[in-house]
Amino acid sequence: MRNAQARARPHPVSSSDALVRVYSEAPLPTRHGSFRVVVFRERGTDKEHVAAVKGEVDGREGVPVRVHSECLTSEILGSLKCDCRDQLEHALGLIGSAPCGVVLYLRQEGRGIGLGNKIRAYALQSRGADTYEANRALGFPDDLRRYDVAACMLKQLGVASVELITNNPLKLAGLAREGVRVRGRIPSVAPLNPHNVDYLRTKRDHTGHLIELFADENSA
Ligand SMILES: [Zn+2]
Repeated sequence: MRNAQARARPHPVSSSDALVRVYSEAPLPTRHGSFRVVVFRERGTDKEHVAAVKGEVDGREGVPVRVHSECLTSEILGSLKCDCRDQLEHALGLIGSAPCGVVLYLRQEGRGIGLGNKIRAYALQSRGADTYEANRALGFPDDLRRYDVAACMLKQLGVASVELITNNPLKLAGLAREGVRVRGRIPSVAPLNPHNVDYLRTKRDHTGHLIELFADENSA
């Protein structure tokens, strides 16, 4: 497994003005297989973004990649209000059984508005607002997620082109705009439950998420 543990080679972009830089890395055995975890530090902030890397990705074309934004409520607390945890597990499982791939875990909670404001938005939603109405009522745009950090991480890992695991056309476009070569899309699969069906329907109808809402959760 020496290859899987090869070091991330800083690429030309990683000069002193790079948006993120590799800070540390180590092999990481997981329930989804052996990964290499690489921590990037974002310039001028205390934010640490994470890449879970399977196999050798440097110079590879068509690498399966999930660009995932942190979601404490679902990933740690098991919230059923969204599908983030299921999408993360799906991506790790898919990549864990592939020869190579990358999950980028970005520290941008609540579509970038932060945890405290996300919970404020949840409070508004509990009184009837949908996810986008709640954000706007708090003075935030629909989505503050940015893709320049992800693009910089992929570049430093040497990924030549990606197959993006997503249902979100804005994410495909956002990464392409930042210079990531997107060769294709792998649908992201997450089960429905009575708490997230309205959320997923809103995502689909509001921003064109490519989600098929099946009644049978196992076929979603
Ligand atoms: Zn979530």
